[in-house]
Amino acid sequence: MEIRNLKQIKENLNQLVKNIDKNIDSLYKIATHDEKTGLYNYKFFSEMLKIELEKAKRGNKLSIAIFDIDFFKQINTKYGHIKADELLIKVAKLLESSLRISDIIARFGGEEFIALLPNTNKQHAKLVAERLRKKVEKQLSKYSLTISSGVTEYKNKDTEKTIKTRADKALFKAKEKGRNKVEVL
Ligand code: GH3
Ligand code: MG
Ligand code: MG
Repeated sequence: MEIRNLKQIKENLNQLVKNIDKNIDSLYKIATHDEKTGLYNYKFFSEMLKIELEKAKRGNKLSIAIFDIDFFKQINTKYGHIKADELLIKVAKLLESSLRISDIIARFGGEEFIALLPNTNKQHAKLVAERLRKKVEKQLSKYSLTISSGVTEYKNKDTEKTIKTRADKALFKAKEKGRNKVEVL
């Protein structure tokens, strides 16, 4: 075979490998991220939570926080779905950019987000959630948009379900207390 042809084959193969790499990257992104907000999806969060629960069993501190936009139904009614979507994305980006690189924040459902805070006890997790709550209140004051949060830390024998249920109960308490609040259980 001519050297010229070999060179061409090598170039084609290199291009093919580059394309495969790009496709793998984009498939990984689709599989692990939420399309609307660009945050991690719950599936990815759940995998990370399993790993952190194993570490917590061995003594590592671990907290989780759920965030829920207050009265988002009213925001939709007042500003329309398109603007409400924009605000949802803004909240997502604010939360993401205010956390540590080692923390993980995911979209938990419609207008809810869930954060995994490794090496963090519930007192510190509360401070983190309070900081985020205040930031959203300030930055989105024009829309009177606020968030409530439920925080909890790992307790002996916790599973994915029990720790999440406790955070959800704390969130419910924050809503009951009037919203724009952080509660810890
Ligand atoms: P609360 O303070 O009790 O959380 O009140 P809420 O209105 O936020 O709670 P509720 O669960 O009753 O309603 C959530 C609303 O969020 C319902 C739905 O229309 C809206 N929502 C959920 N996901 C999206 C989304 O992706 N985009 C938009 N625009 N709205 C969404
Ligand atoms: Mg909700
Ligand atoms: Mg809500």
